Amino acid sequence: MWLRHQTRQVSVKDVQIGGGAPVSIQSMTNTKTEDVSATVAQVQALAQAGCDIVRVAVPHEQAAQGLRDIVRDSPIPVVADIHFDYRLALAALEAGVHKLRINPGNIGARDRVEAVVAKAAERGVPIRIGVNSGSLPKDILEQMGRTPAAMVESAWRHIRILEELDFHNIVVSLKASSVPLTIQAYRLMAAQGPYPLHVGVTEAGTAESGTVKSAVGIGAILAEGIGDTLRVSLTGDPVQEITLARQILQSLELRRNFVEIISCPTCGRCQIDLAQVADAVQARIGHLAVPIKVAVMGCAVNGPGEAQEADVGIAGGKGAALLFRRGSVVRKVPEKELVETLVAEVEQIAAAKAGN
Ligand code: SF4
Repeated sequence: MWLRHQTRQVSVKDVQIGGGAPVSIQSMTNTKTEDVSATVAQVQALAQAGCDIVRVAVPHEQAAQGLRDIVRDSPIPVVADIHFDYRLALAALEAGVHKLRINPGNIGARDRVEAVVAKAAERGVPIRIGVNSGSLPKDILEQMGRTPAAMVESAWRHIRILEELDFHNIVVSLKASSVPLTIQAYRLMAAQGPYPLHVGVTEAGTAESGTVKSAVGIGAILAEGIGDTLRVSLTGDPVQEITLARQILQSLELRRNFVEIISCPTCGRCQIDLAQVADAVQARIGHLAVPIKVAVMGCAVNGPGEAQEADVGIAGGKGAALLFRRGSVVRKVPEKELVETLVAEVEQIAAAKAGN
C-alpha cells in the first residue's frame, strides 16, 4: 500500500476526492453538450467503462440549457467546464451540476466571482481550479517563465480569491503537455497546499503517444503518493481514456475493482496463438468493473505457477490449454474454445460476486 499525501476531502455528489478516498477516474465528453441524447449516451458508456465523474464543456448558453437533462440522466456526477463567463457558471449550478471547473481569476469583476462562489457554497458544489501551462498569466510568465513554480503561483492566485471568500471546497489541477513539467508542478503543489489534486497530462496525444505520456506522467505522480483523482487525455473516443486510467491505477495497485488481464510475452515453449486469445479476451471482458484477475499464459511449464493469484487462467499446450482456477488445473480445453471458455468463467465469477 502506498503512503498517500494527505489532502482535504471534497464531495462531488456521492464521489469523494482526497482525504484518503480511492483515486477516482474522470473523463470528458466530446459530444456537443447541447446534443443531450448524444451526450447522455456517451456519459453512460463512460460510466459503464468505469468512469467515476464526467465533465462536459459548457461554452455557450445552448450547452448550459442541456445540463439539467444531462444531470438527471447521468449515472455519475457531472462537472461543468466553464471558461470566463460567470452567467454560464450560475446557469450550470442552477441546473444541478455537481462540480464546476472554472478559474475564479478569469471570471472578471469581484461581484461576479462572489455570485458564483456564493451559489457553489450554497449548493455544496466544489470548484476545480485548472491551471494549464499553455495559458499562464503574462506577468507570471515574464517573471518566472513556463516553470513548475509559475504554474503553482498561478494556482495560488485563483485559490486565494476563493479563500478570501471563505470557500475551501477546492480541487486543483496543474496540467502541462510536458511530462517533467507536470510532475514537478504537482510535487511542488502537494508540498504547499492541503487541496486535493486532479492529475493529468494535457494534450497527451493520440492513442500510442498519449498512452505512454499519461502512464509515465500520471504514474510517476501517483507513485509519489500525490493525486486524488485523474483524467487521462487522449485524442479520440473518451472511453479509451477510462481503460487506460484503470490500467494505471491497477498497475500501481491503487484500485483493484476492475478485470485485470495478465498475459505472458510468449517464448519458444508456446504452441498456441496466445496473442489472439489475449486480445480477444481483453476485448470481450476487459471493460467489466469487477475485481477479477485473468491469466493468459503460453505454457504449462510456468503458466499456472506464474499466475497463482489469478482467479482464472489458461496455460497453453499443443493445440489446447489447461484451464486453471487459483493455480489449480481444472481441465483441458481445445484452442478454438479458449476465448469462449475464459469469457464464460469470468462471467460466472462476476455473477457470483454481484450476488454476494
Ligand atoms: Fe514462455 Fe511459458 Fe513463460 Fe509464456 S508462460 S513466456 S510460453 S515459459
